[in-house]
Amino acid sequence: MLKTSLVLAPPSDPKESEELSKIMARLESTYGKGKWCPDPEKSRDSVRDKPEACKNIDEITRILAESRNEPDLRAAWEGWHTIAPPMRKDYTRFVELSNTGAKELGFADTGAMWRSKYDMPPNAFAAEADRLWNQVKPLYQSLHKYVRRRLGIATDTIPAHLLGNIWAQEWGNIYDLVAPADAGGSYDLTKILEARSDIDVVGMMRIGEQFFTSLGFAPLPQTFWERSLFTKPRDRDVVCHASAWDLDDEEDLRVKMCISKTADYFQTIHHELGHNFYQRAYKMQPFLYKDSANDALHEAIGDTIALSVTPGYLVKIGLLDEEPPESDDIPLLLREALDKVAFLPFGIMIDQWRWRVFSGEITPDDYTRSWWDLRLEYQGIAPPEERSEADFDPGAKYHIAANVPYMRYFLARILQFQFHRALCEIAECKGPLHRSSIYGNRAAGKRLERMLALGRSRPWPDALEALCGQRKMDATAMLDYFAPLKSWLDEQNS
Ligand SMILES: [Zn+2]
Repeated sequence: MLKTSLVLAPPSDPKESEELSKIMARLESTYGKGKWCPDPEKSRDSVRDKPEACKNIDEITRILAESRNEPDLRAAWEGWHTIAPPMRKDYTRFVELSNTGAKELGFADTGAMWRSKYDMPPNAFAAEADRLWNQVKPLYQSLHKYVRRRLGIATDTIPAHLLGNIWAQEWGNIYDLVAPADAGGSYDLTKILEARSDIDVVGMMRIGEQFFTSLGFAPLPQTFWERSLFTKPRDRDVVCHASAWDLDDEEDLRVKMCISKTADYFQTIHHELGHNFYQRAYKMQPFLYKDSANDALHEAIGDTIALSVTPGYLVKIGLLDEEPPESDDIPLLLREALDKVAFLPFGIMIDQWRWRVFSGEITPDDYTRSWWDLRLEYQGIAPPEERSEADFDPGAKYHIAANVPYMRYFLARILQFQFHRALCEIAECKGPLHRSSIYGNRAAGKRLERMLALGRSRPWPDALEALCGQRKMDATAMLDYFAPLKSWLDEQNS
């Protein structure tokens, strides 16, 4: 367990080990400081007025999400990717050195070390990931085809800068461009939250906690409310990337995030609380077992709960006056699929690329070409302009530069639906899966607790069985959830 808990194995040679840590620090800081400084000559007026205005990742993210002007989107996309070429040499050396360390521990390479975390032979795990992807691929293809046509694209591939996200990994930001023509207004949780002056960001957090206590979990300790960081401080810089912590392996649970009153943050609150309730559930385990059964399970728990945040639930807690009509189901499912389904091929291709880089199948003189080959194969996405090995486009994604394994996010997307379906069956929910909520159901809560309390004391198929009665990961729950949307998309596409 100690060996497979590593993400990076430093070589035993002290010189090489030191070189590796310096490279890692440099890669992460190059990414963190990454800015796009628009060329004032080429820019449109707004930028020419302020040629000194370099844009950081947040500003570029906003342009990609909000702009509907193709040249602006293209400029921002290309601009962000200029941060990466300086990382290429470091990344190449990082691959060599980290492989040296992994080999010393008995792994074939760093990728094999990552794949060995899953209580099965590394190659069997790779085959599992492929199996799950093949289950959901037809759903993704229907969504891709629909979006492509609604954007008026004549080719089979979608240019990467048109999907509302710098990596084209989640497409929810372009919902307005692809919404069904007859979609009603439906409801907008962000607007509801904004209108409720009696609910501040702590109040949003209380609503999240209340979901867990409705399942039978004990309330969070008073120290959670005193010691967490919920809003961005005015007087200093903090890392706002949301995270959840267990400080003492006992009761000192906290989150660190900069909440604003939006539907997105409402979702993130449930995600982070899922980590905290998991951490507390396994606190009785010995030190080595104080973790989720595999890294994907930790990411999936809060999202599972968030799937129960249905319109019906919002009515129950008084955030919505009445349930939207059934005719709103398709627009709501489409909005959700643009984030959750669109993410799947991206989620799996990141480590498909890295595994091949670590194994040597992809060589440094092929880094960028192979990256786009995989993005085309999995996502059906192409760069907005010709790329070459003078670029290093993989480095423009945080998890590559910072060496964070990615397969857990792909698996978590699949697992959250599997958990949701299992818990809904226990709660004897009526109606379709996307309208089902386990809110207030103690039996479902008890079953969830049973899995969480195992921590990492058993192989993950045991943990899965404790909750779902299944020992295999299974994407059919996700297909069930989106089944009405899939038929609708296919109808539209034909
Ligand atoms: Zn998380």
